Amino acid sequence: MTSNPRAELREIVGEVRAYLEAQRDLGVEWVDVQWPESPVASPPLTLREVREELGECTRCKLHPHRTQIVFGVGDPKARLVFVGEAPGADEDAQGEPFVGRAGQLLTKIILAMGMQREDVYICNIIKCRPPGNRTPESEEILACTPFLRKQLQAIRPQFICALGSPAAQTLLRTKEPISRLRGKFYDFQGIPLLPTYHPAFLLRNPYEKKTVWEDMKLLLREMGLAGTRDTATGQPGNQATGR
Ligand code: URA
Repeated sequence: MTSNPRAELREIVGEVRAYLEAQRDLGVEWVDVQWPESPVASPPLTLREVREELGECTRCKLHPHRTQIVFGVGDPKARLVFVGEAPGADEDAQGEPFVGRAGQLLTKIILAMGMQREDVYICNIIKCRPPGNRTPESEEILACTPFLRKQLQAIRPQFICALGSPAAQTLLRTKEPISRLRGKFYDFQGIPLLPTYHPAFLLRNPYEKKTVWEDMKLLLREMGLAGTRDTATGQPGNQATGR
């Protein structure tokens, strides 16, 4: 034990930084940090507490560019969570995920599944708009995903749908392309996770809408909701939101 705990802490931080930089130079993009088990397991935070912990975040270089943080929206006890990539211009302006063109398509998909937007929870892997809607960088993802994980721990959904490569690759810690990942369930901390194409991709490639619909039918089957939507009237059945 040194007599100067601050100096000791600085030294440890320096060593960890050097280690991480060396790993990055070797091409490692993810380091799985496991906190030691606390002798008294603390319960997961509520969504409100996660939002409070996030605060007016300045943890990555996106913060000066945002109008506001886009945290997430929907039922805090949703059975199903959709995770997208990052807020775009409309989301940045309105403070709600998936409200632009891609969001309107996601809303249509949710309705076609026999649910309402309010029945599910919708969020992104990062909570601030990247300038020019560029793809989030790994440092930004690294800074933001602890909050996504806490959101998912707070909600404990029964199913997760990852929309597009960045969401699927981040949650599954893989570099496999979405074209190979989609259409199958994976395990995310005990929760079945289904990757599918991002609605923005569907806007550019409308012929892939049928592929996403196949994925959503698979999801509905797993959720025990296949056939609850009345295909003749397009009206949802009444089991869709039951937890
Ligand atoms: N695209 C996303 O991935 N998320 C949004 O919130 C909007 C568009």
